[in-house]
Amino acid sequence: MKLKPFIITSVAVVLTFSETSAQVFKNDELTITKIEADTWVIETAENNTMYMVEGTEKALLIDTGNKCDSLEEIIRKITTKPLLVLLTHGHSDHTGNIDAFNEIYLHPADTVLMDKNYPGKIHYMNDGDVFDLGGKMLEVFHTPAHTPGSVVLFDAQTQSCFSGDAFGSGLIWLQLRPTAPMSMYVGTCTRMLKAMDEKNITKLYCGHYPYVKKAFTKSYVSDMQKLAEALINGTAPASKPYDIVVSFGCPNPMITTLGEASIVYDPEFIK
Ligand SMILES: [Zn+2]
Repeated sequence: MKLKPFIITSVAVVLTFSETSAQVFKNDELTITKIEADTWVIETAENNTMYMVEGTEKALLIDTGNKCDSLEEIIRKITTKPLLVLLTHGHSDHTGNIDAFNEIYLHPADTVLMDKNYPGKIHYMNDGDVFDLGGKMLEVFHTPAHTPGSVVLFDAQTQSCFSGDAFGSGLIWLQLRPTAPMSMYVGTCTRMLKAMDEKNITKLYCGHYPYVKKAFTKSYVSDMQKLAEALINGTAPASKPYDIVVSFGCPNPMITTLGEASIVYDPEFIK
């Protein structure tokens, strides 16, 4: 892979670049790796994830990770274009640096999850909205269940999508409050599989990339759909208690697995 010349001068770790390395930046908090044409994954040391996509006129930051020093300054070493900031959903591990940005885009259904003290402007986006970055169009796809306002971004040009936590990262959390019925997640998986076909999307980049280090394919979403349907029908593989330090309001979360997919759920809210 051919990489642009890239020089970092103001951080502790300075990398040299080779034709084979796609990593373009690393410090104690962040690792930035080019994964597609004009597309980077930004991994935090706490296993959270942002993506940045650049067009000829603008760049788009998808999520803002957990709180990091100098995020915008570091991003500015990759792109100098006007930067739009979009949140796939309102959870704090995806919104940790919003104070560094004057404006963000969010689905209105996740307003309830946001920090009320955010001083900037929130622009609301909806299903079908398109971000035109110049030679690159990213389309918003509403995928509720993990949160009411979770969205996925489609980039037809690279056949990729950026899914936040809408389909988890190998494992999806559906036990959180506000809890969605499992049938809503089945519907989201069904719409997603259809959209991936129609838009020829083959790669799904999830919201916690450090755990998987790859793009999922359609078969992953298909396994999620089958497992969610099996939970509703009572035919899912045996569940076991899901050990977690913070309960997030669910007293007895359970986990079950089918193929590539695992679902953490609240047995009180299975339908
Ligand atoms: Zn989340």
